[in-house]
Amino acid sequence: MSWDFSTDPDYQEQLEWMAEFVRREIWPLETIWPELGLEGLDKAIAPLQDQVKARGLWATHLPPELGGQGMGQVRLGLMHEVLGTSPIAPLAFGNAAPDSGNSEILAMAGTPEQKERWLTPLLAGDLRSAFSMTEPHTSGSDPTQLQTRAVRDGDGWVIDGHKWFSSNGSIADFLIVMAVSSPEARPSQRASMFIVPVETPGVEILRDVPTMEHPWEQFGGYGGHSEITYNSVRVPGEALLGGEGEGFVLAQQRLGPGRIHHCMRWLGVARRAFDMMCERATYRYAHGSVLAQKQTVQNWIADSAAEMQAARLMTLHAAWVMDTEGARAARTDVALIKFYGAKVLHDVVDRALQVHGSLGYSTDLPLEQMYRSARAARIYDGPDEVHRQTVARHILNGYQAPAAEVPSEHLPTRREQARERFAHILDAVTAND
Ligand SMILES: Cc1cc2nc3c(=O)[nH]c(=O)nc-3n(C[C@H](O)[C@H](O)[C@H](O)COP(=O)(O)OP(=O)(O)OC[C@H]3O[C@@H](n4cnc5c(N)ncnc54)[C@H](O)[C@@H]3O)c2cc1C
Repeated sequence: MSWDFSTDPDYQEQLEWMAEFVRREIWPLETIWPELGLEGLDKAIAPLQDQVKARGLWATHLPPELGGQGMGQVRLGLMHEVLGTSPIAPLAFGNAAPDSGNSEILAMAGTPEQKERWLTPLLAGDLRSAFSMTEPHTSGSDPTQLQTRAVRDGDGWVIDGHKWFSSNGSIADFLIVMAVSSPEARPSQRASMFIVPVETPGVEILRDVPTMEHPWEQFGGYGGHSEITYNSVRVPGEALLGGEGEGFVLAQQRLGPGRIHHCMRWLGVARRAFDMMCERATYRYAHGSVLAQKQTVQNWIADSAAEMQAARLMTLHAAWVMDTEGARAARTDVALIKFYGAKVLHDVVDRALQVHGSLGYSTDLPLEQMYRSARAARIYDGPDEVHRQTVARHILNGYQAPAAEVPSEHLPTRREQARERFAHILDAVTAND
């Protein structure tokens, strides 16, 4: 039996290099990101991407048989914890969402032609992609309600529908669109995925929806969440990704590892907020002492440390289960970390912001931006409530109602049973009285 929390020295060295590289080369870019624009950012990170490639750390997320490095989810998770400290870092390492998840689907389900046309340039960073599933008028939590339709037309398909929150849609070269192709099939087998180049007639990218994270109107930047209509979009038969009706299965396969990556990135953000909170506590003086000496602030620091440690161990454990037993076995663990990790991120950032008072609320610190994006973590990739439901359902499968609905631990019942079982001892003790 092995039970080991250490990281092997070679990989630890890589992690340390990544941490130093991200802090030295990427954190400074965050402050001028809006000034750089899409083109300027691409220019600024190109030489960094070369360094990452030279170090063998570019697009490491795929298994080796699919062109990646076979690092496994635990190592990838540790990497994402480092990269998560900055929203720009994943771009420099070729594993930014949604391209990373989309490349996983293409690698898993793509035909050799689809891989050559879409996956190879995606991994090289020459193309960008978006995943287009959520619709404004149906519940994204229950994708069996999807209304976007793909209807066979000769050798190809015609897609009609309305999507939104297709992240990076306005800068993507192609979209992976989830559409109902077999409306008569069982709900979980009704949808298929299609690769749709953005320039296909009928694809209309209406806007990037302003959000808490980007409250202002903008279009065509990294991280925009696009609203898109598909109006009689005709695609050839080769656009079908995976088998007909396999959309949900593929989406689940994409989301499992993706959620682990998200949770580890959130821990990177939480750690950065935590460091700011502790630093502030050392010098801000109020009511006779620095904040570090106030019990409430000490509680926040201790609670945050405990919660981050718990979330980290839970996430790495989920990654380990995925590596050792497969994605299916890790389903409950992944659902646990999705809602727990999002809460930890939110709470740590919230406390750090509070400790900074008005400075925390201002845009002079990154805390308010972290807070706004932390709020989204409780919604995307499935809202908290759905993951809690999954966890509870799996747990409850291991329970059944007790006979005659008497609780198993009912003391009077147990006492009666124990008296019967140990009657000979009780009788002897009573006889001695
Ligand atoms: C920042 C961000 C990025 C995103 N990126 C993408 C993307 O790239 N591609 C894409 O397709 N989508 C994307 N989404 C959409 C996201 O996946 C959906 O928002 C999510 O699945 C929830 O769907 P919905 O918004 O339709 O909410 P609904 O499904 O309408 O749910 C609303 C609320 O109802 C409650 N609820 C739902 N089900 C239950 C339940 N079973 N029990 C109790 N309460 C419940 C929850 O509180 C939930 O928050 C993104 C969203 C965000 C915020």
